[in-house]
Amino acid sequence: MTRLIFLGPPGAGKGTQADNLSRNCDVPHISTGDILRAAVANATELGKKAQFYMDAGELVPDELILNLIRERLAEEDALAGWILDGFPRNVEQATFLDELLKEINQPFECVVNLEVPDEVIISRLVNRGKEEGRSDDTESTIRHRLEVYRERTEPLIDFYRSRQQLVSIDGNQPIEDVNEDLAKVVQV
Ligand code: ADP
Repeated sequence: MTRLIFLGPPGAGKGTQADNLSRNCDVPHISTGDILRAAVANATELGKKAQFYMDAGELVPDELILNLIRERLAEEDALAGWILDGFPRNVEQATFLDELLKEINQPFECVVNLEVPDEVIISRLVNRGKEEGRSDDTESTIRHRLEVYRERTEPLIDFYRSRQQLVSIDGNQPIEDVNEDLAKVVQV
């Protein structure tokens, strides 16, 4: 059963790797960033509330995210497995996820931590901003997202490592090589 969590700074390649794996394993790729961007594009209530935080490079408040995850994991396609990308992003979300997974009896396989140095991240994201026009991929917002990552999300590395649930992979190599490293550590 494929149930994986991708961890890593913005621009580490979580989305790319999660997408690939989700196709190979035939399980949904659940990206809270994608869900939120769709909500913004469709101007839903969630989107209207989330946009301000996203544009500022801040985390969207947990109250907007937790229910969304609970509902998404309850959908039919998620019963056979999933790949989480962008969630959990702080200790509160990780604790919530622990409780939720216990409640629905769905243990996860492991947490994949993609490691990429800061300077590589910044140049990747600046390029993505130019190519895709994502409104949060400007240099000052990118730097702020990295700070938020260090402060709020990075503690999850120790959180999962201390429970021996963490697998770290070098994300600063060609996509195919990351793929290969990943295939060595997760069951596909
Ligand atoms: P990146 O990993 O490049 O920062 P994402 O697509 O994962 O991009 O997220 C974009 C934005 O969406 C974040 O900066 C944040 O505002 C919001 N977001 C996504 N996931 C979460 C989450 N789990 N909790 C809070 N905010 C989130």
